[in-house]
This record gives sequence, structure tokens and C-alpha cells, in this order.
Amino acid sequence: MKKRTMLLTSVLLCVSLFSGCALLPFEEDVPLTAKEEKEYIMPGESAQEESEEAEIEVVISEEIDELDELERLEREEESEAAEEPVLAHNEPADPKELENPDMEPEFQLSLTSVRAVYADAKILAAQYNYDAAIKLLENQREYEYSSAMKRAVKNFKKEKASCVEYPLEEITHVFFHTLTVDNSKVFDGDHDEAGYNQYMTTIPEFNKIIQTMYDKGYVMVSPHDMVKADKNGNMTRKKIMLPPGKIPFVLSQDDVSYYHYMEDDGFASRLVVTADKEVKCEYINDDGTVTVGDFDMVPLIDSFVKEHPDFSYHGRKGIIALTGYNGVLGYRTDVAYKTGENLYEDQRKFLEDHPDFDYDKEVKAAHRVAAYMKQTGWEFASHTWGHKNVTTSSLEELIADNERWVNTVRSVVGNTDMIIFAFGADIGNWEPYAEDNPKFQYYKKNGYNYFMNVDSSRVWVQITDRFFRQGRRNLDGYRMYYNPEMLDDLFDVADVWDSDRTVPVPPI
Ligand SMILES: [Zn+2]
Repeated sequence: MKKRTMLLTSVLLCVSLFSGCALLPFEEDVPLTAKEEKEYIMPGESAQEESEEAEIEVVISEEIDELDELERLEREEESEAAEEPVLAHNEPADPKELENPDMEPEFQLSLTSVRAVYADAKILAAQYNYDAAIKLLENQREYEYSSAMKRAVKNFKKEKASCVEYPLEEITHVFFHTLTVDNSKVFDGDHDEAGYNQYMTTIPEFNKIIQTMYDKGYVMVSPHDMVKADKNGNMTRKKIMLPPGKIPFVLSQDDVSYYHYMEDDGFASRLVVTADKEVKCEYINDDGTVTVGDFDMVPLIDSFVKEHPDFSYHGRKGIIALTGYNGVLGYRTDVAYKTGENLYEDQRKFLEDHPDFDYDKEVKAAHRVAAYMKQTGWEFASHTWGHKNVTTSSLEELIADNERWVNTVRSVVGNTDMIIFAFGADIGNWEPYAEDNPKFQYYKKNGYNYFMNVDSSRVWVQITDRFFRQGRRNLDGYRMYYNPEMLDDLFDVADVWDSDRTVPVPPI
């Protein structure tokens, strides 16, 4: 028993060292005294506890090691912080590892909550959300007694003060289409190859692009961080505050539908939520088996941000631009799959091949994926239901199209005030939209405030009190092959180019 007493006392001391003290829950909110420490020591009642005790000792010693490690990280961080204003964001180990059913519940709770809160605050600060990080720590009732928490708050404040405002009109926007997984199928000489070669990006290319951009200081932001829209559609400028050297950019991906035409052509088949509550891709192998993994932009970015939280501003990820006619995110959610009316040939074939297709289940599953994505920083935009060219389509066509989008896409992924025009078309020229532009009037009246086209310039941003417009740069085979110099602020095409591609990339 004595041994256990000593071990528990050591753990408590370690917690105190790490936290500055007082991170354990106790009744009067006062620092731990020797008397109170004893209350956490289980009295030895009988010899049958002896074997159990040995086990607990092992767990506790492991915990001591972990807390020592945390303490070391703290010290390391402190000395780094003294040298430079930017903290190293060492992530403590998973708090779950500390859970041990044999330990007193209060003791467990304090250890896990300390770690969880501290880890959360560090991620918030790493993502430049210093106010939220500070608030989180200050709101802990242990804050008053914790010198470590106070130290962290002081560092967060210092980091915040070092941030500078980034000019909104200089923020670039890059976009991708569905990434290619099996290049032997993508670049196989079939009639789709030319389009894939022009418009798609391979996973190794994507990973190199993202790594290079991260290394250069790029940070994902949302147009919603740049301009705020009130419920009447009045727009006001916001401030993006980042440490000097960081470069905000907007990321988007178009047509994340896993269209029928891409089946068996080397692409993922849909996005799913795994048992670990992560959004991943399914890929269907030749033998029909399914592999789950990072086979497209969403899970690749999720994994990247998990490793590099500072690639995301306030938790932002990218914008997913969705059409509706083949469903969304790989789910066949369009109403045609329910009614069986007005089916395209590939839709008819899909329903024939899947006699057990359950429309309601499909919608529910897609809704779940979208909900998880939104929770983890992703946003959705309309890409028009039917991949419409908004320049050449009539107002009536666009109205009918948007109603379909609202009924079959918005109903699955939720509301949005962003529209990313297909074909890089637009509802006006480069001049600000005129109030009497009927297409603008229609979209604005129907809740759209953010309008995005395609533009090869490095930046193209237009902000008024009525709308936000931004040009997007395609980081695809076509642009990389024909205009590598247009991308050299982002990455060097020579370092990124995938030799699996067929050359020349066909002209458009
Ligand atoms: Zn598109």
C-alpha cells in the first residue's frame, strides 16, 4: 500500500509540475494540500487487491513517463518561445491513453481533461484562432491556479500581437477536380483520357503541390473569412490576421460527384464516414473488393491538417462545388434515381446493376458524410445542378436549374450562399455585377452572396457591399503543361509533374 501511496503522490506531483497545480477537481477550488492528496489514495482493504495493485502500478508508471514527457515539451516550448514569438505546437499524446478503469474517477477526469483542454487550445492557436485558445484556457476553473495555462495564454497573446492583416484583394484561389487514383486506368488511351489529362490532377501531384504550398507558408482560408454577409445580403469586409510570412489562399474542388462516366476508370467511388468518424474514400478494386483510404482531396487534406494544423485558418478546409444530376459525393441522391423517370443511359444501367438500391438510405448516408465534412471545416457550394454554362443559359433555364439544386442537393448537404460557376463561366464580365443584371438579381435574391469563376491570373478578387467575386486557378494537367510559369508562385511544375501522364496534353 505504501508503494501505491508514493506512486499516486508522484503522479499528483507531476500533474502539479505540468499544470502549475490545481488541475484536479476538488471541492473548494483551492490548490492541493497534503491532506487532500490522501483522499485520492485508496485504502488497502485486503490481500486480494495485491495483484490488481501491480497492474495499476504499471499503468501509473506509464502515466508518470507521459507526464514527464509533457513537462519536457512544455519546457522546450518555453525556451523556444523566449527566442521567437512563434510557438512550436507540440501536440500532447492522445488523452484517451490515460483512461484507466482501475483509477479513481476524479483522478482520471482531471488527467484527461487537462490534456484534452491543453491539446485543444494548442490546435486552436496553431490555426491562428488565438482568441478561442485563450478563452478556452481562461474558462477552465483551474486556470487561476495553473501557471502553465497562464504561460500558454501569455504566449498566445504574444503570437496574436505579432499577426498582420493580409490584403483581401491579394488572396489567390486554387481548385482541383477529382484526383486520379489508378493512373494505368486513367491514362489508358480510352476516349476519356484526353479530358482526364487536361482537367485532372494525380494524387502524387496533389500531395507535392500541397506540401510545397505549405512549406511556402500558404494557409487555407474561406471567402467567409474575407467578407461577411448579413441576412439581408449586405456584405462587409473582414480581416484575415496571420503571422508575417503566412499567405492565405482559398481551396476548392469541383464536381465531387464521382460521376457514372468515371466508374472503372481509376477514381474513387464515393466518400464515406469510417468507424473512427473520419471521412475517407472508397475505391473499388478490379475484383470488386473495396479499399478505404485517402483517395481524393477531402481525406488527403484532412490527413494533412491533422499533421499540420497550421495549414488551416480557424479550422477551415476547402469548398466542395456540387452538381446534382448524378447525385453528390458518390451517392445517387438525385430524384431521378427515386422516380426512375427521365433517366440517362448510365443511370438506368446503375439501377439495373443495383436492384437493392435504397434511395432513402442513399440520401441519409450522403447527408451523414456532408454533416461530418462540415463539422471538420469543409464548405459546400452550388456548381449548378446540371453543370450549366451560366453565360449561355437563359435566365429561365438557370431558375429551373437552381430549383433542382435546392431540391436535390441543398436538401442533402445543407444551405450555402456560394456558387462556383461551371465551365468557369460567369453571369457578367470583369466589371462589378450591375444591380439590374437579371441573373445576378435572381441568384442574389435566392441567397447567393459569393460568386466564383475561373481566371488564370494569380489573384482576381472583387468585393462590394453586394457581392464577393473571386477567380480560381485550375491546378490541372492543362495548366501545368501549357503555362507552368503561371503557377510558379505556388510550386515548380517540374518538381510536381507526374510521368504517368501522356504527353503532349491535348489542347482544349
Ligand atoms: Zn465542373
